[in-house]
Amino acid sequence: MAWDIGSTLIFNGRFSKLRNRLLLSYLLVIATILGTFSTAVYILVVRDRNQQLNAHLRQIAAASASTLEIIQHEYEELSTQEEYKGYVPLKADGMPVPITLSQLMGKYRADSVSQLVANPLTNHQGVEWFDGRRRFMVYEGGLFPSTLLPNIISSQGSLVQYGKIRSFILPVYSVSSTTVSASISTSTIPSRLGYVRVSESTLLLEAELRRFQTGLVLGVLIVSGLVTLGGFLLTRESLKPVVQSFDQLREFTSDASHELRNPLTAIRASVAVMQSHPERIHPADVEKLGAIATASAQMSHLVDDLLLLARMDWQAPDQSAWRRIALDEMLEDLVDLYSDRATQAHIFLQSQLIPNIEVYGDASQLQRLFTNLLGNALKYSLSGGTVNVSLQRIGTSALVSIEDTGIGISPDQLSHIFERFWRADQVRSQHENSSGLGLAIAKTITQRHGGEITVRSQLGVGSCFYVKIPLP
Ligand code: ADP
Repeated sequence: MAWDIGSTLIFNGRFSKLRNRLLLSYLLVIATILGTFSTAVYILVVRDRNQQLNAHLRQIAAASASTLEIIQHEYEELSTQEEYKGYVPLKADGMPVPITLSQLMGKYRADSVSQLVANPLTNHQGVEWFDGRRRFMVYEGGLFPSTLLPNIISSQGSLVQYGKIRSFILPVYSVSSTTVSASISTSTIPSRLGYVRVSESTLLLEAELRRFQTGLVLGVLIVSGLVTLGGFLLTRESLKPVVQSFDQLREFTSDASHELRNPLTAIRASVAVMQSHPERIHPADVEKLGAIATASAQMSHLVDDLLLLARMDWQAPDQSAWRRIALDEMLEDLVDLYSDRATQAHIFLQSQLIPNIEVYGDASQLQRLFTNLLGNALKYSLSGGTVNVSLQRIGTSALVSIEDTGIGISPDQLSHIFERFWRADQVRSQHENSSGLGLAIAKTITQRHGGEITVRSQLGVGSCFYVKIPLP
């Protein structure tokens, strides 16, 4: 991915990953806070609204309870006295049918109904009056649960949910000639007069809570969107100085490597000239001159590697130089090139290459990638070992594996091997000419070709490096 920092265009997947990780962590924290907060608000509101509904039911029940005695008296008069015969219809078994409060009071004046029920009832509410034997007598309102009273009713009243209807059932007690609800304490022993059941639909409450929930979710989404935007800008701003100093460091590495090249070339050329006239060199200095030649060659190699890495970090891949490359041919040439070295080291080098596998890329870079891996496989293999190079097609990718039976890598070191300048302790002491840049270069080249490099290794048994490159 490429993005603009100041005037410099930087190709940098590493910072892009870091920024995404930062952004993700930031969003996770915010999402957790917002989620917890909105859930807590929702729970509190649901509890509060339910308590409000329950309190409302209790209030109507208390008001309706105070009228039970009158209602019971009137109902019995209407259903038993000869002069009102037929006023209350009878069921097939001869029992009176419950009537509405308006019908009950119709024998007086219709407007007296409002005095018996505290507030006018809506279609979503209903009050039922029962006598002491739980016989349903009178009702008012538009909503009733079509069930009998429950067997157990607390003396303080019980809340019952019948599907989408919530009811509060309140037992009513009488003390001598006075009727009181259970909540009032008396000095005399109360006897149960009957029950009042007040019901209300919870559909309105549910709809209201659904609207609240939708509003809350919408609010959380809007805030999350704003927070994402803020987080994006914030992480970009906070990473700017880091990216800039990294940028300067790479520029320095690139410049320093470039500047070191010329003096190194001069040293190597001078040493080569001196070595070409051994008669002019004092015998005691021949060895020293050899050491200078080796050291300057190593340094030159290191500087080239550093420069290559700095350039690859700096520039996006120049795809105009890319072409179709027959991987099998490239690997075959490489195996041929290294066969002498393998023979000298008594290492058995073999290959299994599926023909006609082509990838699209930079030939010299891919050559460098496989040279580094094959070079390592031979370098870190012991005499008598085997190195196997294979190429196959896996789905839409070409898979190159370079396997050796060498010294292997311990599990705790595996995560470091692609880091720049990293070398295993054992290698540091035994292979002085190793720089620790080969695998970093291999990884960068693979990534620039849209591929992936992985490794499987066991200490003392061997290693296998896999390079997966997408087919064109
Ligand atoms: P260099 O080989 O120049 O040290 P590399 O970057 O190629 O640098 O490798 C880094 C380190 O990974 C090596 O120093 C070595 O410890 C380990 N390594 C790489 N390839 C192998 C291998 N085939 N077998 C065992 N160890 C390896």
